[in-house]
Amino acid sequence: MLPYGRQSISSDDVEAVTAVLGTDWLTTGPAVTRFEDDLAVVCGNPAVAVTSGTAALHVAYAAAGVGPGQDVVVAPLTFVATASAAALHGANVIFADVSEDTGNLDPDAAKAAVTPNTTVVSGVDYAGHPIDAGPLREVAHDTGALLLEDAAHSVGGTWHGRPVGDLADLTTLSFFPTKNLTTAEGGAVVSPRADLVAGARSFRNHGLVRDKDSQRFPDEGPWHQEVHAFGLNYRLPDLLAALGSSQLARLAAFRARRSEIHARYDAAFADVAEVRTPSRRHGADPAWHLYPLRVLDGRRRALFEFLREREVGVQVNYIPAYWHPVFADLGYRRGLCPNAETYYSQQLSLPLFPDLTDSDVDRVAGLVREFLGHSA
Ligand SMILES: *Cc1c(COP(=O)(O)O)cnc(C)c1O
Repeated sequence: MLPYGRQSISSDDVEAVTAVLGTDWLTTGPAVTRFEDDLAVVCGNPAVAVTSGTAALHVAYAAAGVGPGQDVVVAPLTFVATASAAALHGANVIFADVSEDTGNLDPDAAKAAVTPNTTVVSGVDYAGHPIDAGPLREVAHDTGALLLEDAAHSVGGTWHGRPVGDLADLTTLSFFPTKNLTTAEGGAVVSPRADLVAGARSFRNHGLVRDKDSQRFPDEGPWHQEVHAFGLNYRLPDLLAALGSSQLARLAAFRARRSEIHARYDAAFADVAEVRTPSRRHGADPAWHLYPLRVLDGRRRALFEFLREREVGVQVNYIPAYWHPVFADLGYRRGLCPNAETYYSQQLSLPLFPDLTDSDVDRVAGLVREFLGHSA
């Protein structure tokens, strides 16, 4: 089966990880510091490495002070974690619809959704296309909330010349194998605000305070560390951070190859009226994670099955988050965000990863064309 996404591992990656095995630090050590420094260069702001993109969201919401009685506005065309991580902090999730072209949180919908209790507005860089950050920042800040950008798809992308990581108050990344770079499992929280970075670091490590000047009982003894606010263990091991730094050295190459493949699919479907190729707004230079083709003739499911039968590992990204029974049971109803629902009903992710060959792309595109009655 040709996968829809796959990691690209070099001999340098293998060496970087193996080297850490021979050191004193398997978990939090110098490789984490280096990876965070390397990420900060790409993202334009300090980064806090954590164990997954989901952990990054949980940590970011904690840093933002999200809790019971608060509202968090979330784009529904996303992996459920964007919403569930806020719900786990006790917040009320309000879904606001996406723009029909990019599938990203629509600033007007977000504006209509915010309340005086909204503490975070969460957009998602769907497929790798950056959110409409300017208007969304304004919507969030006007109501006293923070803008969070779930950039699990988009590390390395830019929006009007600014890197992903410098567009929102909090940016979260995922380094799952299918994403734009990998640490196996891993993620990061990025922020231009020192207080949010400190909050993220604290929550990642149980809320432990080791600095004597900040402790309530500094005379307890030289061993003493104390907890001022609850946290968890979301520490990324050095082993995986080393893989991350090694991967980051090839991020630009990954991104360039992903763009080439994107363009090759676009060209292959240019004359096919039954599909819509991904939109790209002025100012967006995306690091494409997905190739979200939209099937307009109602046959998305049939095309999915046709391709899977031919060993092409297509995916659908995503079922609107509030369709998950956990949200449905809380009273969220279908029909809430029509653009997200329409997008979902048409969407099919074609294989996209750096080591995909042109002939693989041509074969996949040819099968799609054949299914839709066009010459391959
Ligand atoms: C992958 C993903 C996540 C979760 O990341 P993990 O590293 O798998 O925990 C969150 N949001 C989006 C949009 C994702 O694609």
